[in-house]
Amino acid sequence: MKSTETKVLEQVVDNNYYAKNEEDLVKIQKVMENYPVKLSPYLKELTQTSEAVRLQYLPHPDEFESYGTATPFEEGKKASKTYGLERLYRDRVLITPHFDCPAYCRFCYKKSRVMRNKPGMTFEEIDNAVIEISKMKEVRGALVTGGDPMMNPKKLFYLLDKLTELDNITEIRVGSRTVLTAPKVYTDEICDKLASYIKPDFNNPKKSQYLAINVHFNHPDELTPEVLEACHKLTSRGITLRNQTVLLKNINDSVETMSHLFKLLLRNNIIPYYMNHCMPVEASDYLRTSVQKGLDIYNHLCTESSTAIPHYVYAPSGGKVHVGPDTEFVYEKRDGLDLIKVKMLYDAKEFRDIAKKDLPPMHWETEDGKIEGYYIDGRDD
Ligand code: SF4
Repeated sequence: MKSTETKVLEQVVDNNYYAKNEEDLVKIQKVMENYPVKLSPYLKELTQTSEAVRLQYLPHPDEFESYGTATPFEEGKKASKTYGLERLYRDRVLITPHFDCPAYCRFCYKKSRVMRNKPGMTFEEIDNAVIEISKMKEVRGALVTGGDPMMNPKKLFYLLDKLTELDNITEIRVGSRTVLTAPKVYTDEICDKLASYIKPDFNNPKKSQYLAINVHFNHPDELTPEVLEACHKLTSRGITLRNQTVLLKNINDSVETMSHLFKLLLRNNIIPYYMNHCMPVEASDYLRTSVQKGLDIYNHLCTESSTAIPHYVYAPSGGKVHVGPDTEFVYEKRDGLDLIKVKMLYDAKEFRDIAKKDLPPMHWETEDGKIEGYYIDGRDD
């Protein structure tokens, strides 16, 4: 006979947790055909106690109604002949050694590739990518992203060993949510190895190499003792942790929650770096607020201690847009969509040359050569 505790666990992590009736059950089953559920053992436990965590990871019948697109932020996939290497900007590349994650966030803007069991890069493909990067003399930064590269430390370290040998690469960022999804990954040995890639050169600081980890916390409930201990193992070795929060409806879309989160992060040596508006990715609309709602929250944050305020950004396919207290949005309505029209800082010619593709749909070149386009706004109702 199962204990009551076990029954509660099974009930909470049931994929149909948010189904209120038969119709909802059918919707959730259909949603999961395209976007499956995956939870790490650690997150399974956390879903028992935190509604904010449950909402991020368990499927919802509202995913069935969608106006988003499958790939809202195409990342220069044609820019390289090497699988897993992408370049969209002049000075940095993205490398994806591992395409899977320990758990799937329902709002993931890369869900169409993260949730599809795409194979990771082979060691040979990593070798080829590094050779290509060595020839890109303007590139100085590498974002090692995913999926989650910390799911395969052996491959990650193979890549980092090679990257840090390149003269042109001085800034390495590893994007990972494993401090939350699998904090036990961070053994002393793994943390020592990560710290070994920080190579200051005091005589010639232009040659100094650094490694930072982009972490991803959305709610104070995620900052458990295990998670904070994993973070401390990294920061105490000199590794910078920069947090990227996604603004999510009914999870963190209030001044109180965001302010509390950013203060806790700062107190634990984690830099609140970005507050990202949730992208218009398919089946995530129910978690998206308007950009304006994010700005209202941000304006309140700006009245608090400045060290705990991240950059607030939204990302049309043409590139990131920073939002500040003075931002005024230009709205249009088309085909039932609420659109924000925005001119970006990026050059259209540079985009075409580097990404080796045309401007994305709903984007065009302005008279002065910049990229202008539409962003699908979220809704607060
Ligand atoms: S951790 Fe990041 S890449 Fe992985 S599913 Fe979540 S949002 Fe997507």
